[in-house]
Formats: sequence, structure tokens, C-alpha cells
Amino acid sequence: MNTFKAPKGTYDLLPPDSATFLAVREAIAAPLRNSGYGYIETPGFENIELFARGVGESTDIVTKEMYAFETKGGDRLALRPEGTASVLRAALEANLHKTGNLPVKLWYSGSYYRYERPQKGRYRHFSQVGAEAIGAEDPALDAELIILADQAYRSLGLRNFRILLNSLGDKECRPVYRAALQEFLRGLDLDEDTRRRIDINPLRVLDDKRAEVQKQLDGAPLLSDYLCDACRAYHKEVRELLSAAGVVFEDDVKLVRGLDYYTRTTFEFVHDGLGSQSAVGGGGRYDGLSEMIGGPALPSVGWALGVDRTVLALEAEGVELDIPASTSVYAVALGDEAKQRLFALVTELRKAGVATDMAYGGKSMKAGMKNANRSGARFAVIAGERDLAEGVVQLKDMESGGQEAVAMDAVVTLLKDKLV
Ligand code: AMP
Repeated sequence: MNTFKAPKGTYDLLPPDSATFLAVREAIAAPLRNSGYGYIETPGFENIELFARGVGESTDIVTKEMYAFETKGGDRLALRPEGTASVLRAALEANLHKTGNLPVKLWYSGSYYRYERPQKGRYRHFSQVGAEAIGAEDPALDAELIILADQAYRSLGLRNFRILLNSLGDKECRPVYRAALQEFLRGLDLDEDTRRRIDINPLRVLDDKRAEVQKQLDGAPLLSDYLCDACRAYHKEVRELLSAAGVVFEDDVKLVRGLDYYTRTTFEFVHDGLGSQSAVGGGGRYDGLSEMIGGPALPSVGWALGVDRTVLALEAEGVELDIPASTSVYAVALGDEAKQRLFALVTELRKAGVATDMAYGGKSMKAGMKNANRSGARFAVIAGERDLAEGVVQLKDMESGGQEAVAMDAVVTLLKDKLV
């Protein structure tokens, strides 16, 4: 019979590596939870129109990378390629912005899907943890989010990442810049596809990775020269707040990012050990998005950090997270009666909050102890018929190797004490 394989561009998360994934998610979420962000979960798919409008008709994500499908009922849906549009949709739908408590601060964690050419660090199914602060225009909020991401990465022990920062202007100054850029780009020698992009989304041409395009971009007008006074002042304040917080960043006047909805502050976290897929996270302000998807004006800012790439960044830096063994106590029984008694004891230990496992499948003592060793448990609880007769179990300290007989009814209390 054929054996099945995970679909192209995907991989399975398996123990023990999966523990690192969970720890990364947790480390990214911790600073958010600690800063007033509430957890939100939205469906894995949405009406395709939400992404077309929210992410942008001209983006690669929408034109090439979406998993779009029609349901039996005729609904046109797409697996979510990113989180912001869905989170904003959900917040608007639930009227969270009308509670008078703005900004609405939300964080999320989940799977995202993009039909991209798979390579290391680029998958068709990947995980992000993200945060959105909806309904306030305040440089301190932009700074807060960047600081929290920085804090998350640092708490994981990452050091070789850089923060790239730019302002994309607003609806006043960006159109003026856009026109100037279009004029410049039209004078270049570019292929059909790229020329089309000049009309739809000229800023994205700046993001073109090809050397022959980049070469021609020398001398292109820079958005930083076109920012209006309000955008300039806003950006200055974001930069000052970051500096005051001791967060180091680099100004990158060419940073545009792949989604259409960004305004003003944009940023990317890049890691230097990851080769071509170096962006570990990114985000920015999206003051116009709410209106684009049918809501009121709600200036907002957010980011998403990639869990897969953060794990790769840890590997690149040789950082090993300190993940405690998941099992503290491992029980090994000899004989059926001992097995029954230990099974009851294991259940009791678990109820008491002690992480406990036991040898299953009628193993020999030797095989059972091997499992106990592999589990990383601090203590093994061993019992055979003679122990039962005496009303004891053998408690083995797996670190020192020392072993003592302990009365069966005292084991739970004793282990709880020893393990705190
Ligand atoms: P983006 O919305 O494209 O800026 O994505 C935010 C973050 O998600 C990126 O910085 C990556 O860490 C991660 N990411 C995006 N696309 C992929 C992908 N195809 N595979 C793995 N991670 C991804």
C-alpha cells in the first residue's frame, strides 16, 4: 500500500522539536499578554473578498499565493494567508471598537497558508503569532509593538536580528510620492509584468529582488523626501520612543513590505543567519484598512512574527531553549497486580499536578527503566509483588541513582514536596 507524505511545502511538528515551537509561541505571546492584549481566534478561512480587498488585489499574496476554493454551497473562500484582515473583520463584526475602550488590543496565534515556492524558511503552511492595536493613532502604540517584539526575541536569547524601520506616508503625501515614483519607473527598462506593477503598486517595484532591477533603481525618488509634516513628526516620535527604550533599529528607506494596506510606520525584523528568507517578522500601521473592508476609519498598527523562522533563527544562533522535561515521575511495575496499583497511583499523582507517565505494554523491568530514563523523569516509582506485600514502592532518584522504599500512601505527598 502507498504510504502518505505531508503535502509539498509542509512539514510535521514532532516531539521533541515541537516543544521548541510551543516555547517560541509562548515567548512571543508573553509580552503581549503582559501589555493589555487579549487573545483572539478567527476561522482558518474567510470570504476571499476580504483578502482581495484587505491585503490588496495587486499583491503576490492575493494574485498568486492564495488557497482559494468554492464550497459546495457556492461560497468563495480562501485559507487565510495572513492574520490582520481577519482580526480586523472580527473586531468590526463584534463591534469591539464601539465599546469606547480604544485601542482594542488583540493577539493571535495560528496557521497561515500561502502557495509559495517552498524552500528553507518558506513553507505553504506556517505559523505566526501576531498582535493588532486597533483604533488609535499614537506613535507610542507603534513603539510599544516594536518594543514587545524585540523583548520577545531577546527573551528567547536571539541576538543577531535587526529591526528595519521606515515610514510609508499617509493619504496626503503618499499619492504625491507615488506619482513621482511612477514617472521615474516608466523611464526604466523593465519587463511587461513589472511595468504593469508600476500602474498598480509602484512601491512594490522598489522591493524587487532582481539585481538588474535594483541596479536601475539607483536615484529613484525616496518616500522619506516626500513625507508630509504630520508623517514626519509622527515618525520622529516613534524613532525617539524606540531609542529611549534602548531598542536599536536601522532606517531603511526602501522597506515597503508585501501587503498593500500599510501606512506610516512599517518595520521588519530580519535575522542574519537565515539566508534569503531572512524576515522573521514584520508589521506596521494600517490606518486605511478598516475603511477598505467596509468599516469606519480606525487607525491601527500591528505585527506578525513567524514561528517557523524564529525556530530556524534559534538554530542559526545555536540557542537551545531551556525546556524542562515534560515528565517528572515515571512508574514501572512488575506483574499485573503491581501494574494496577501503580496505575492508580499515577492517576493520583497526575491529579495532584505531578507530571507522571508509566511503562505500558507489559514490559520487562529493564525495558521499563530504559523508558523511565528516556522520559527525562526526575524520579522512578517501581513496584513488584514483594513491594505490594509490604505496602511500599521503590522510589528511585534518577539523578543520584539512590533508591528508597516509601510507604504507598505517603508517595504522593513526598513526591509533591520533592518536586517543588
Ligand atoms: P508577512 O505577513 O509576509 O510579513 O509575514 C510575517 C512573517 O511570517 C514573516 O516575517 C515570516 O516570519 C512569516 N512567514 C511569512 N510567509 C511565510 C512562509 N511562506 N513560510 C514561513 N514563514 C512565513
